[in-house]
This record gives sequence, structure tokens and C-alpha cells, in this order.
Amino acid sequence: MYNRTYNFSAGPATMPVPVLEEIRDELLNYRGAGMGVMEMSHRSKVFQTIIDEAEQDLRDLMGIPDNYKVLFIQGGATLQFAMIPMNLMKNGKAIYIETGAWSKKAIAEAKKYGEVNVAASSKDRNYAYIPDCSDLPVEEDTDYVYICENETIHGTTWQKLPDTKGKPLVSDQSSMFLSKPCNVSDYGMIYAGVQKNVGPAGMVIAIIREDLIREDLDPKTPIYMMYKTHADAGSMYNTPNCWAIYVCGKVFKYLKSLGGLTAMQRINEEKAKVMYDFLDSSKMFRGAVDPEFRSLMNIPFVTGDKDLDAEVVAYTKAAGFENLKGHKSVGGLRASTYNAMPKEGVEALVECLKKFEAEH
Ligand SMILES: *Cc1c(COP(=O)(O)O)cnc(C)c1O
Repeated sequence: MYNRTYNFSAGPATMPVPVLEEIRDELLNYRGAGMGVMEMSHRSKVFQTIIDEAEQDLRDLMGIPDNYKVLFIQGGATLQFAMIPMNLMKNGKAIYIETGAWSKKAIAEAKKYGEVNVAASSKDRNYAYIPDCSDLPVEEDTDYVYICENETIHGTTWQKLPDTKGKPLVSDQSSMFLSKPCNVSDYGMIYAGVQKNVGPAGMVIAIIREDLIREDLDPKTPIYMMYKTHADAGSMYNTPNCWAIYVCGKVFKYLKSLGGLTAMQRINEEKAKVMYDFLDSSKMFRGAVDPEFRSLMNIPFVTGDKDLDAEVVAYTKAAGFENLKGHKSVGGLRASTYNAMPKEGVEALVECLKKFEAEH
């Protein structure tokens, strides 16, 4: 109806059409307020209701316990690479697990603030698997253990969380947020840049256990970069990303209407299976990741021949599928199959790839 393509972008990524339609209908006049949400004071009653409902709907979806704060912070997921060590390194010591490009960036930033022990890495095979973390060298004064739970670029996901021996687990869930149920109390902190699986770019949602929100930070810590600032001000210390909060709130309600995260997991598993079954049966294409660590959200695949990979990208683009070129560090192709990608999109892509294979 809108002449939309199937957009397999890793982020910003495709959004649910019913949500986009609601936003369109409210753009010029939000429910009789006489103005749209992007024109509205963040201190207005109308906006306060929008942010309160967004938080409550997220709490309902994830079953977030009362002793966790939900914070909406600007700066994307990247700002968290610095805020986490700034705020959580009390003894100046943390364990990081290196599973790809995004954990590498987090490690580089954390090293500026303290002692970082990269206790496990999958670098030896270009991050095609998740290393065993059942016996990490956690010490009495280790502040936290850090993972990137779904590596967007490499297409791996953690099946079993590491044993942190009681220390807080900090997880970057940017590219898997709300894709399946999550037991929040297994974590000290979860965060996600919202432009992968939820809403527009430029905001992160941080879910943080209250006892990890400290006041006794280095006095040079910028006020904006203290979790306490955002927790005390209800995410409105300064003007928040009102637009992103509004859109995310709509997506939360939409996910609830579909049956919540249990339903999303079923839908996402069915969708990913269409793609992985094809890759496993194809003579031309293969998945780039060890099968037991395959992501439901980001599916990198290759032919093994760079020129042929480039031909496939051009072929799919001509057939109406967008953003399938793989990240340069992995090569080949990557299909991101976030919550909002319909199963029909993946089925159509598989048909297209089968056709290419038959013709070549
Ligand atoms: C995209 C992404 C980021 C960075 O997000 P920004 O909002 O661009 O800062 C961090 N971590 C993961 C896992 C990502 O997929």
C-alpha cells in the first residue's frame, strides 16, 4: 500500500507499520492537544503521561523488578561505553568479554577509567562464536562483568549468561532488546540503543539496579554522565529525546498487543528458521557463525567468493530488498530480522536467493 521495500538494515531499522500509521495520524495534533509531540514542552502534563506510560509498558513487557530504574538517556549506546566504567567502577576493576566490534569499542573506552581484564575472547576465529565463560577469574574487588549479548555485526548471541560469581552483569542488548523474554534480575544493568529493535536513533534505555547508582563519583564526572542525575530527575534532567520516548512507547504497546515477549520470541524463532534452514540447505551460501551461537536478529552469510557476494547484494537490491551488504569486517551479506521485519519479508528474500543460486 505504501510501496515500502523489505529493509534488512542493521539500524536504524524497519519499524512496525501500525505504529508508523498511528504516529502519522497524531503528527499535527496529538489527541486534541492542538500540537504534535515534537512541538510539545517536555514539562507538560501530556508529555509526562507519555513518558510515564512508556516506562510502565516497558516494565510490564520485561517484568522489571521495582528495585531497577528505567532511564531514557541520549547519546545512543555509544555514550554508555564511557558512562558504565565512570559510574560502576568503584574499585577500578572490571571483566570484559570480547565477542566482536561492539564489545571491543566498550573495552577501549573502559580502559581509560580502570583495569580491564579481557577474560575471554573469540577473536581467534573472527568472532564466529561465544567463548566459554563458565569459570571467569572474578575477584573480590571486581566491580562488574561486561558482555555484548548480541553482536550485531558478527551475528552471534549468548545462549547462556556467564557466571559472574555474584558480581553485577552488565549487558549491551542493543540489537536484541525485546526480542525475547529476559530475566532482568540476572543483571546489574541492561542497556540498549533503541534504533535497532525499538524506535528512532539517538537514545538509549538503561535498566539499572538501584544499588549500583552511586553518588561518590570522581568530582570531575560530567553531571549528565551520572546515572544518579537521570534517576533523580525521572530522565528529564534536561530536555530528553521526547520524540524517541513517544515512538518507543508506541512500540511497547504494539508488542503488548501481539502477546508480549513470549510471542515475540516465537515469531522471531520462526522467522530466523526460514533463513537458517535455507543457508543450511544451500550449496552456494553458508551462515558465517557457529550454529549454536546464531543470532535471531542479525544473520550474516557468505558465498565464500567476494565478487559473487557483491553480485548477490546488487541482485537483491534490484529485486527490492535493501541493506543486505555485510559489514566490512565480516564481508558477504547480513540480513537483520528485528521484531518489525515480517516473516513474509524473510520468505521473499529466501525465494530471491534461491533464484540467484539456480541462475548461477
Ligand atoms: C548499534 C550498536 C551500538 C551503538 O549504538 P549507537 O546508538 O549508534 O551509539 C552499540 N552496541 C551494539 C550491540 C549495537 O548494535
